[in-house]
Amino acid sequence: MASKLAKGDGITLSVEVNPSRGDQPEVREGRGVQEKSPESTWHGFRQKIRFLVPYLWPLGSALLQGLVMLCLALLATERLINVFVPIYSKNIVNELTSGSSWSSLATTVCVYTLLKFLQGGGAGASGFVSNLRSFLWVRVQQYTSRVVQVRLFAHLHGLSLRWHLERHTGDVLRSVDRGTSSINNLLSYILFSILPTIADIIIAIIYFVSYFSVWFGLIVLICMVLYLTCTILITEWRTKYRRAMNTQDNAAKSKAVDSLLNFETVKYYNAENYEVCCFEEAILKYQESEWKTNASLALLNQTQNLIIGCGLLAGSLLCAHLVSQKTFQVGDYVLFGTYIIQLYTPLNWFGTYYRLIQSSFIDMENMFKLLTEEKEVKDDVDAAELVLTSGQVDFDRVCFSYSEGASLFSEAVLYVCVSRSLILHDVSFTVLPGQTLALVGQSGSGKSTILRLLFRFYDLQAGSIHIDGQDISKVSQSSLRSYIGVVPQDTVLFNDTIGNNIRYGRVTASKQEVEDAALAADIHDKILTLPEGYETQVGERGLKLSGGEKQRVAIARTILKDPRIILLDEATSALDTQTERNIQASLATVCSNRTTIVVAHRLSTIVGCDQILVVDEGRIAERGRHEELLAQGGLYAAMWLKQQNSETDTQTDQR
Ligand code: ADP
Repeated sequence: MASKLAKGDGITLSVEVNPSRGDQPEVREGRGVQEKSPESTWHGFRQKIRFLVPYLWPLGSALLQGLVMLCLALLATERLINVFVPIYSKNIVNELTSGSSWSSLATTVCVYTLLKFLQGGGAGASGFVSNLRSFLWVRVQQYTSRVVQVRLFAHLHGLSLRWHLERHTGDVLRSVDRGTSSINNLLSYILFSILPTIADIIIAIIYFVSYFSVWFGLIVLICMVLYLTCTILITEWRTKYRRAMNTQDNAAKSKAVDSLLNFETVKYYNAENYEVCCFEEAILKYQESEWKTNASLALLNQTQNLIIGCGLLAGSLLCAHLVSQKTFQVGDYVLFGTYIIQLYTPLNWFGTYYRLIQSSFIDMENMFKLLTEEKEVKDDVDAAELVLTSGQVDFDRVCFSYSEGASLFSEAVLYVCVSRSLILHDVSFTVLPGQTLALVGQSGSGKSTILRLLFRFYDLQAGSIHIDGQDISKVSQSSLRSYIGVVPQDTVLFNDTIGNNIRYGRVTASKQEVEDAALAADIHDKILTLPEGYETQVGERGLKLSGGEKQRVAIARTILKDPRIILLDEATSALDTQTERNIQASLATVCSNRTTIVVAHRLSTIVGCDQILVVDEGRIAERGRHEELLAQGGLYAAMWLKQQNSETDTQTDQR
């Protein structure tokens, strides 16, 4: 059951009432990611508002702009109605006490009822005007949500591989979620809660001064100033508790997400109890800061109540005194009472909205951080499209390190300072058009890194990579990647059908083309044995498929993409020898006449390659054809011998 916002300092639009907990409103709070910043939420306020405005004013849509204007007009109408309701309430009392005619009384009652219908029944029950406004605002809100979400999503996809590897997906998603709703919340809180409340206070003070006396205006003014000051001061003071609570909450949620994502590993190591204990510890920490937050909230609410109570007492006593002196009529007391209650009711929410705005700013801050995250690998402003003519690949003295900032060094300093962290040292080679180059070497020697650099997941620290004479750092990334097909070492699939996973290679491919690709990758028959064939869901990250099947899906995808340059990163490592042979044949067809770079573990699969490079600790230790390398009697020959021996051993064992 959802109700409107309850008084308190919850941080989202919705409050859920849980019947099992005695209808206590349960306020879910929007919490930001990495809320460690000690500075006030209002820091950079103007910049944030400047960021908000374009989302409020839907450029390019006259209809939505009209809706915004209409909503603002309705807001002004509400202010007007708020002035007239107490006046009509007073008129009714005065007409009743002075014995006016029935027709005049009936008219006054009808007008009063109409105004109340438009205004709403108090205690948060919204009237016709605000209901209409909320309804009209939905489209504007949807526009804002869509624009923000799409912009963020596109930005996240534009960020570099390094950024994605270093981030907690759970944190990022929460940041996106909260950031998006924070913009909507901010707009509606500021426009429809804070501004109207402030406008109502100003109108009330003017009205009291002009209709009653300057004393009434003064009482209201002092009361309001005290109220707002205390609310803001106490709320700002509480912020540190809230930030701490949110950080702890994020830690607990991240822990839960990480633990559930790795549930297989948890099972392997029988670590369920350990995971549960860690989670409980995180929750306990969160609850400690939650307690402080709630205790300070109680203090805030009591202070607000006290101020409002004092203001009401002073105003009511003064008015009652003046009525008893016959300076005012009874109706005037009713006017005062109605007006002041009408004014104080939304004020009760002021603390809540102030908190909501503050918290939305925090959420927005985190989203800002995401949005201002620089792309590490950027296209040049005037980046040309890669024009692939024959498909020659050249690596020229390439040096690379995964540690960030190394590119700031000059080449000489680079060698001295970071040579120990360099993954690739002075790597140079050429793959002629249509030829196949194989990279072999120990695990961790840098073979996959070479492929990642050709795909431009990272920029180089020194040297250059050219395709058909064009430096890949000078051409657009999308044009570069459109020509390259990759079959990675670990294939991760989308939680979708197996057919759609293959189609990912070319989303416009027909059913027949998908099936042909699957056939070429030797997975078609296997798919037909699955309960729903190509419509079978593969599970999260493709967990329902074996490593070999996933690799074959990846090969099928690449076949479908039909690229001019193919990178195979131990593409058949997860397959058994028989399947590997089948696939080798289809891979040979796919790769024929295409420039291919293969990272291979099993040397028997690369004997026919045009060139073999032996990578050792990031350097090219040997290069040549299979026979030449064997004749050299170096690292390659040793590896070959070792593999031949182990294969012979396996065959003997099998016999
Ligand atoms: P290979 O493919 O030869 O097994 P890789 O090219 O994957 O080796 O890795 C080479 C080295 O770079 C390894 O020591 C590995 O730990 C390191 N490495 C790989 N990826 C990253 C990364 N994203 N960040 C930091 N170091 C990495």
